Amino acid sequence: MTALYRKYRPQSFEDLVGQAPIRTTLLQALKQDRLVHAYLFSGPRGTGKTSTARLIAKAILCENRMVTGEPCNECDICQSVGRGELVDLIEIDAASNRGIDEIRDLREKIRYAPTRAKAKVYIIDEVHMLTKEAFNALLKSLEEPPAHVYFILATTEIHKVPETILSRCQRYEFKRISDADIVTQLTAIAEKESREVEPAALELLAKAADGGMRDAISLFEQLSNEKLTVQLVRERLGLTNDQSCEALYVALGTADTQKGLSVVEEAHREGHDLQQFTTSFLGLLRGKLHEAVAAKKTGVIPKLLQWIELFDDAWMKLKRASIATLPLEIAVIRGTQSLEMQAVEPQTERPERLAQTAVAAPSVPASAVAVGLLQMDAVQKQLPKVYGLLSNPSVRASFQTGHLKEVNGKNLKFCFSSDFHFNKVQDLGALVLVEEALKKVLGEEIKVFFEMEAPLVESLGWETVEEPLP
Ligand SMILES: [Zn+2]
Repeated sequence: MTALYRKYRPQSFEDLVGQAPIRTTLLQALKQDRLVHAYLFSGPRGTGKTSTARLIAKAILCENRMVTGEPCNECDICQSVGRGELVDLIEIDAASNRGIDEIRDLREKIRYAPTRAKAKVYIIDEVHMLTKEAFNALLKSLEEPPAHVYFILATTEIHKVPETILSRCQRYEFKRISDADIVTQLTAIAEKESREVEPAALELLAKAADGGMRDAISLFEQLSNEKLTVQLVRERLGLTNDQSCEALYVALGTADTQKGLSVVEEAHREGHDLQQFTTSFLGLLRGKLHEAVAAKKTGVIPKLLQWIELFDDAWMKLKRASIATLPLEIAVIRGTQSLEMQAVEPQTERPERLAQTAVAAPSVPASAVAVGLLQMDAVQKQLPKVYGLLSNPSVRASFQTGHLKEVNGKNLKFCFSSDFHFNKVQDLGALVLVEEALKKVLGEEIKVFFEMEAPLVESLGWETVEEPLP
C-alpha cells in the first residue's frame, strides 16, 4: 500500500469518495444505533471497502459518536484506530494464508470480552479466499455472534462466498468510482502535496485505474515526482496513443495483414503494455460498433463483432502468452485473412476443384462478381453486404453461421455445423430471403444450397469422395 493512499484514507464518512448511497445508509444506521452484527462488502478492488469497514469499526467503538453517526476522531479509541493500534479491531487478510489459523484463533477468542473498547470488530478482507473449514468455523461464529462482536467481511468475488455466509450478512455492493470523483480526489491530493499536474493527466490516470481509487492514488504517487503531464502518463503507463489504434483499425478494414502486424510490433517495441493497448483498441471497436448500430449500418456489424471477439480473445490470452505479441498477431491475421483462408482451404485438399477456383486470386476485384461466372473469393468478400440486407434477424443470425463452401456457376453451396441453424435456413421463407439478398448484392439470379458439415474425419478428406453439386 502506498504512503499517499494511507495518508489520505478517509477518517470520516464525509471523506469517503464515490459511495454515496452506502455512506448514507450506514450513517443512518449508526445514528439510530441500528447496527447488525455482520456486514458484507463486495465490489471491485480499491473502491473503498476496507476503508469503509474501518470507518464503521471506528464509529461502533468510538466513545463519543456524533449525532450524525460519524466517529468523533478525538477519543482514545478513535485515535488508536487511526494509528492501527487498537487490539479490539482485528483485521484478517484471508488472502495471505487462507485464514485457517486466524479463524481457529478467532473461534477461541471470540467469547472473551474486548480489551479496551466496548466491543470487538473483526474485519475479514478477501473473505472468499477462506478454506472450506475456515468458512465453516466462521459460519458458526456468524450464527450466534456474542453481543460484543461485529463482523465486517469484504470481497472482490462475491460469487465465491457460500450462500450460508451471505444469508447471515447485511450486504453492500460497492461500485466502481467514477472518473470524475477520482479526478476530484487526485486534484485535492495534488494541491495538498504541492505537486504540479496537468488536469488532463489526472483524467488519464483515472481512466487507467478503472474505478479503483487505490490504484489511482498509487499511480499518482509513482508518477508525480516530476511534473505530471499527459505525455509522461502515456509513456509510463504504456497508454497507446489513439493513432496506433486507428492505424490497426484501418489495417483490418483494408485487410492489410502486414500493416496490422507492424502496428502490434511497434506498440511492443515502444514498451506499451499490450493488454492496455488491446483494451484501448477494443474501446475503439466498441465505439464503431455503437455508431454502426445507431446508424443502422448493418453491413459492417458482423465484421466489427468478429474483430471484437478476436481481440477480446487475444486480451485474455496476453497474460500468459509464451511470446508476448503472439495473441495479437493471431488476432490480426485472423481478422485480415479469415475470408481468404476459408476460401483456400478446400482447394488444398481437393485438387479436383482447383481448376474451378484457381482463377480466384486473393485480389479479385469485387466487380469481377458480375461477369456471370462467380468466383469464390469475390463472393466471399460480398457476404457481409448480403448479411446486411437480411432484415429478418433470426434468418440473418443463422445464415451467418454457415460458410461458403462451393461456387459453381451461379450455384452457391453453404455449409453448416449446427443442426439448429441448418434447419432454420432450410425453411423456404429463409431460402427466398437469402437468395434475394444475394441477387441484390451480386447482380445475378443465384441458387443456394445448404448442407450440414461433414464429420471431422470426412471433412479432412480422408474418406469420402467429393459429390458434385446438385
Ligand atoms: Zn471517538
